[in-house]
This record gives sequence, structure tokens and C-alpha cells, in this order.
Amino acid sequence: MRDGDPRRRVPRTDTLLADPQLVAAAASLGRDRVKALVVRAQERARRGEINPDEVRDAAVAALPAPAPRAVLNATGVVLHTNLGRAALSSTAVAAVVAAAGHTDVELDLTTGRRARRGRDALDALAAAVPDADAVHVVNNGAAALVLAATALAADREIVVSRGELVEIGDGFRLPDLLESTGARLREVGTTNRTTLADYAAVIGPQTGFVLKVHPSNFKVTGFTSATSVRQLATLGVPVVADIGSGLLAADPLLPDEPNAADTLRAGAALVTASGDKLLGGPQAGLLLGDAELIDRLRRHPLARALRVDKLTLAALGATVHQRDTPTRMALHADPGALRERVERLRDRLGADGRKAEVVPAVAVVGGGGAPGVELGSWALSLPERYAAPLRTGEQPILGRVVRGRLLLDLRCVPADADEAVRMAVLRVPGDD
Ligand SMILES: *Cc1c(COP(=O)(O)O)cnc(C)c1O
Repeated sequence: MRDGDPRRRVPRTDTLLADPQLVAAAASLGRDRVKALVVRAQERARRGEINPDEVRDAAVAALPAPAPRAVLNATGVVLHTNLGRAALSSTAVAAVVAAAGHTDVELDLTTGRRARRGRDALDALAAAVPDADAVHVVNNGAAALVLAATALAADREIVVSRGELVEIGDGFRLPDLLESTGARLREVGTTNRTTLADYAAVIGPQTGFVLKVHPSNFKVTGFTSATSVRQLATLGVPVVADIGSGLLAADPLLPDEPNAADTLRAGAALVTASGDKLLGGPQAGLLLGDAELIDRLRRHPLARALRVDKLTLAALGATVHQRDTPTRMALHADPGALRERVERLRDRLGADGRKAEVVPAVAVVGGGGAPGVELGSWALSLPERYAAPLRTGEQPILGRVVRGRLLLDLRCVPADADEAVRMAVLRVPGDD
């Protein structure tokens, strides 16, 4: 039975670590973590718990399920696109968890009959914006625009100011998106000035709608003039307003951000917005406004392709009436209180203090919103060499590197995570 001695047939660590799946895992988890799983599987084979030819599979099976990792956002960017924009509230998270199984998303439990999909979330959204006669929800802000353009302006014209032909980010340009639907863009005015007369001159039977786009991520200053939704509403064609950020009502902190209620009151037939920007909800595209137009959108064949998931509906329904979403809390956090948190954090780092300093910082809204708004904040400043270990550690923490220092801005870090930040900083070997 010499050949049968399992210890002699256990594959070597090097051989196992060369397995393509384990190589790929090592690239994201780190070689040490994968090697530990390999060693554990080898030990099981030596103990006779598994066959030597099962070692590779056992190591692969022990890999953590592929999933996005929860990170702490210490960048000072409230809606960071790379970090998933808005963080959901605990109420919204609970709603998502409850909706994850079988739910009544398209069923009326009282009658036992089929019901409008996601009616609870849609009713909540409609109630939050009484100026909207009807609402519809699709996958994201871009999908809302695509649906409006397709259903209301395919083979016709969308009239839009040259000052509002924006790039959303990552190379996505609104004009390209709109033209991909088969609608024709009728550009009017100039980059810095567009008047009501510019619009009026091109309105005709070929007009699908006039589009007003909020230039969320940049500001034009100087010799400028734009035409308001109120003025555009006098043209006698539907005005579709892409307000971008998803503010349902005015926020005094963000005076230049349009909101759905005021935009509808000013005469927009339809407002489109994102769910995961300033609303602080899940990724979604909100459509609010005229009942007849919304009905045309809902009935368009494309609507099915843009249909929103039950998890999204659950999170959205739980978010629309919430005043204290993490996004709102981060936006409205008091700088004095932030400074106290940072000072406490520094004091508790121990005798050497890790060369940490408490410094003022400037946080921003992000997510392509409120470009002119600066939020006074406070940060823990550490040597730059902390950036990589904190980013790749057990609890990834993302800060901002400014002139050789890593700034950890606590504005978007939940207060109950300060201890996790302290522990992570202390885990970085402190040899400086
Ligand atoms: C963000 C944004 C979009 C795109 O919305 P997504 O939800 O990212 O698809 C479109 N228009 C404006 C003005 C925006 O700010």
C-alpha cells in the first residue's frame, strides 16, 4: 500500500498555486490568503479526510464567494461613482433583504390577482412628489432618457441647447445616447448662451420634445444665458427636464441643484433623474410628470427591457420618504462634530500617534453633482505610504492623497466605524 499512502500523493504547494483559478484568486485576495487555503486543504488530505486528488477542488471551494467588498469611504466625496454612489440606509437595506426571497412585487395579496409591479415604491415616489401626476421607474438615469427619447421622439427631433450637450462621465455622452434611439438632435444656441427665441425658431411638427439638461458636473460662468423650464414651457411642446441628481424637493445646502417638485411646477411635462445620487437610494431612473406621457413610456416595448429589479424597487420605496439617508447625513454633517471625531481618532492612535495630524479638508458632493459646492470638513492626515495597505486591508479604507499625505475625511464614514478606522491604521506597520 506504499503508493496508497495519501501523504505521498498530496500535490505540492507550488503546483497548486499555479492552478489558473487559484492564480486568479491570488491576484485579488493576495497570495498569502490563497496559500493558507491551499495548505489547509493539503492538511485535510494528509489526515485522510479527503483524497489527494481532491486537494485542488477543496482549496477552490474554500475561496470566498465572489462579491463586491464593503469599503469605508474616507475620500470626502459623498457620491463616489467608483464606490457605488449612494450608500443605502439601514431601512433600505432591510427592505432589500426582505425582498430578496419571493415577494408580492406583482401580486395583490388581498385579491390574489396580479398587480402593478412595484406599486408600493411607485406610490411612495408619487406621494413624495405631489406635483407629479404619474411616475415610472427604470434602471438608471440614462435609461430614463432613452425611454423618453424612444417613446416620444423616435424619427422626430429633440430640441436641445448646445450648452447642455454634456458628457456624464466615463466617456458617456448624452447626445450619443439620445441619437442611439433614432431621435434627431436639433441643437440650438451656443455653448454659453441660448435664448427662448433660439428654441422657438426650430419648433414645428417634427418636434418630439424640448430637452432641458442640468449640466450637473460643470459650471459655465461669465457671459452666459440659459432659458428656464418656465420659459420653455411656453413653447407649446412637451419639455423633458433631466435634473440629474434626483433631489425631489429643494435642499438649502444645494441652491443650484434643480429638484423634481419645482421643475414640474415650472411646467416640465416630464422630469428624469437618478435614484442613487442626491436622493440617496438605489441605482434607478426616475420618471415623473404628465400621466399621459408616463403611460406612453410604460406601454412602450422598450420599457420591459429597462424594467427595474424587485430589490431596487424595495430600496427605492424605503428611501423616498427618508430624511436621514447616509447621503443626506454626510452632506449635512456638522464640521465641528467631524473635527471632534478626527481628534478623538488621533488621540486614540497611541503614543506615537502614527504621525497623524488633524487637518481641515474640503469634501464635495460628487457623482457628477453640485460642482461648485464645497463642504468644509476635517480629516486625519497620515503619511502617504498608508494609502495602499489601508486600501487593500481586511477592511478597505479609501482616502485621498494630497501632496504626499493620505487624508482620511470622516464626513462619509459612519460614526460607528471610527474604531474600524483606528484598528486598520494600527495594523499598518509603523516604522516611520
Ligand atoms: C448622472 C446623470 C445622468 C445619468 O444618470 P445615471 O443614473 O448615471 O444613468 C444623466 N443626466 C444627468 C444630468 C446626470 O447628472
